[in-house]
Amino acid sequence: MTHSASRSRTSHSPARNGAPANGVDHARIEAAVREILLAVGENPEREGLQETPARVARMYAELFSGLHNEPRQLLSKTFTQKYDEMVLVRDIEFASMCEHHLLPFMGKAHIAYLPAGRIVGLSKLPRVVEALAHRPQVQERMTEELADLLMEELNPRGVGVILEATHTCMAIRGVRKPGGICTTSAMRGVFRENQATRNELMALIYGPR
Ligand code: ZN
Repeated sequence: MTHSASRSRTSHSPARNGAPANGVDHARIEAAVREILLAVGENPEREGLQETPARVARMYAELFSGLHNEPRQLLSKTFTQKYDEMVLVRDIEFASMCEHHLLPFMGKAHIAYLPAGRIVGLSKLPRVVEALAHRPQVQERMTEELADLLMEELNPRGVGVILEATHTCMAIRGVRKPGGICTTSAMRGVFRENQATRNELMALIYGPR
């Protein structure tokens, strides 16, 4: 497994590998899915499979739409607001595709930040999560991308991001440990430096309601 160090962490070039710059190459996916069906010993012409390549192409276009959706743009409009307490959006549901197996992993994101004079519309945060989730992903990287993006675009005093997800690639193959929840966190600024701030975040997310 190799990772290109020069690749941008938050934005992938949409035009790579000949895919149309503004979207997904449906015909190419259909041909590839047909090939996979043939390779595993199936007959792509049988009735139940005839529409499958086109269906998978439409599904991938949706699940990988984030490659053509720059999350930074979603955060470009901020508001001046004298509010310096914690902002937390909890339980943002997401579904993503693990880039190692192209199988879904899904769960919840909790995003907190401590503003420094600028806030962002709350509805933007779930959309940023979706833009990052809808591309081949790794939960650890997605967590850090979310935190870094918010730090860069909002210039807050700190950001705390926690993702909890179940990975179908763990549940249905290999070690077959269904039900395991993977938790990742990325703390920036005061959330990293200040234990009390971090404790307040954990209490808000996991404490009694
Ligand atoms: Zn996987």
